[in-house]
Amino acid sequence: MSDKKEMRVKPFFKITFKERHRHILALIKKNVGRLVLAGCCSLMISGTTTAMGYLIKPVIDDIFINKDTTRLLLLPLLVVAVYLMKGLGSYGQEYFMNYVGQDIIRRLRNQLYDRIQDLPLSFFQKERTGTLMSRITNDVNILKAMVSTAVTSSMRDASTIIGLTAVIFYQNWRLAILAFTVLPAAFWPVYILGKKVRNVSTGCQQAMADLNSFLHETFAGNKIVKAFGMEQHEKQRFFGRTQDLFQLEIKGVIVRSLSSPLMEFFGGLGIAFVIWYGGWEVIEGKTTPGTFMSFLACVLLLYDPARKLINLNNAIQQGLAATDRVFDIIETESEIQDPATPCPIEPGPHEVRFEKVHFSYGDRPVLNGIDLRVPHGQVLALVGMSGGGKTTLVNLIPRFFDVIAGRIYLDGKDIREYRVADLRKEIAIVTQEPILFNETVRDNIAYGNPQATVTAIEEAAKAAFAQDFIQRFPNGYDTMIGELGSRLSGGEKQRLCIARALLKNAPILILDEATSSLDTEAEALVQKALENLMKGRTTFVIAHRLSTIAKADHIVVIVGGHIVEQGTHETLLAAKGEYAKLYEMQFAPNGAGAAGPV
Ligand code: ADP
Ligand code: MG
Repeated sequence: MSDKKEMRVKPFFKITFKERHRHILALIKKNVGRLVLAGCCSLMISGTTTAMGYLIKPVIDDIFINKDTTRLLLLPLLVVAVYLMKGLGSYGQEYFMNYVGQDIIRRLRNQLYDRIQDLPLSFFQKERTGTLMSRITNDVNILKAMVSTAVTSSMRDASTIIGLTAVIFYQNWRLAILAFTVLPAAFWPVYILGKKVRNVSTGCQQAMADLNSFLHETFAGNKIVKAFGMEQHEKQRFFGRTQDLFQLEIKGVIVRSLSSPLMEFFGGLGIAFVIWYGGWEVIEGKTTPGTFMSFLACVLLLYDPARKLINLNNAIQQGLAATDRVFDIIETESEIQDPATPCPIEPGPHEVRFEKVHFSYGDRPVLNGIDLRVPHGQVLALVGMSGGGKTTLVNLIPRFFDVIAGRIYLDGKDIREYRVADLRKEIAIVTQEPILFNETVRDNIAYGNPQATVTAIEEAAKAAFAQDFIQRFPNGYDTMIGELGSRLSGGEKQRLCIARALLKNAPILILDEATSSLDTEAEALVQKALENLMKGRTTFVIAHRLSTIAKADHIVVIVGGHIVEQGTHETLLAAKGEYAKLYEMQFAPNGAGAAGPV
């Protein structure tokens, strides 16, 4: 048995010293009290199991053989007491261990969410949403399983084994030595198969994470699946995945269900040997039948804890793999960091300046040496074909990404000298994709602005021309966005997003195609609201309709990550360059009419 223990213990200790597992120890430390109680309950269980094994001797020798009537009353009562103790111990141990396990799950989930929420946008673009969800929902469970099994099982099973082994040696040491040379062989298959179980489980976890991602994508993007008639294709892909998962699970079932029968068969061989030798000793009168039966019972009782202890290694290995996946995330350092000594930001309006700014996603350059200056309270319009880098450029201002080279200044200081949260407080943004949360309409407009008054919220909605359709909702401003499902049109969503930005009332305003989903009429109205809003604010506006930006103080044309042209609407038109071409493309069919409002 001792060599088995060696194998079990070695990897455990080797890994315990890895830095990240100190985190787990820290999680466990918070629960030391409950773990000690669980440990005491474990000892009760192992004590009572050992007592049961021991009690067989007096039962057989005193009651059945010596026919002692006092013992006939006493021993059953003792058995009742032992089982009562065992029951209490089991309950206590289950309760405390699961309490600790659930507490660890909660803490880890919180730590994960806390970490993930603070990671930069680039992280969310790299990782698949489904996989991240799987980390928070599945992997923490495996980790908990590891901690509970490792702690309880090792305490309960190890102490049970020690107790039973003591009884075995006490009853008949000759037989004990014999048994302990033969029986360990029975555990060999458990150990070998355990490794296979582990591999299969890791495979299953991965497959589950993939399945999660797949579901997320095909449900969230169901409209496209339908529009392109890909239902059958997606079904086949899904069936393929469940088939793979099925095969993996079945493999696991085979390996797991093989280990018990194999162990029992080899154990049976050992027991047969013990019976043969022990029986001979009883016949010879060297030992009593009670002693022998107690011995045999203890050997049988040993199996379960021994098997669990051997499997413990697997639970730990499996748990450690999950731990790695979880802590890989928890230990990810955000590349967007606050400075050590942040500068305070003066109240707006602000001047924003780009100086030789370069940016690339991975190794693909997107912005190449951008120089720009937007003075206090002026409006800069960014124009250009899609894919030119306009969104990327404005994303650099709130530090969603950091520049690769060059600098962005706000009031003459590099934006990296301010605290990220302070910087973002100065910026209101309407993104290209309208994103709302499943809260009430009111909460969505007041997002990031919880102390906003009812009047302020309604003012913002009115200014964004959202008041009318909000009032038609079943509960007006208290309607949950989720209740509306996909009933909100793109334009309505955008107007809610605009209201949200209006309410934030920040000195820097970024409008990234904020009116792209509105029809011309609604756009004209919202445009007025936006124009009012832009007054006195430093504004970056991206619009595909050039009529909406003609009034900007300065217009910059971006093509392929370069500024190819800049000036005012009039000078750019006169230059007959890129801007004039874009303008013609939009308005040529309508002739001078469209140029009217400009
Ligand atoms: P625009 O807003 O002018 O249409 P973007 O700034 O969105 O352009 O994109 C500029 C280029 O960068 C495009 O070629 C686009 O494919 C690429 N790009 C945008 N976002 C990412 C990203 N997260 N990862 C990699 N490439 C990206
Ligand atoms: Mg864009």
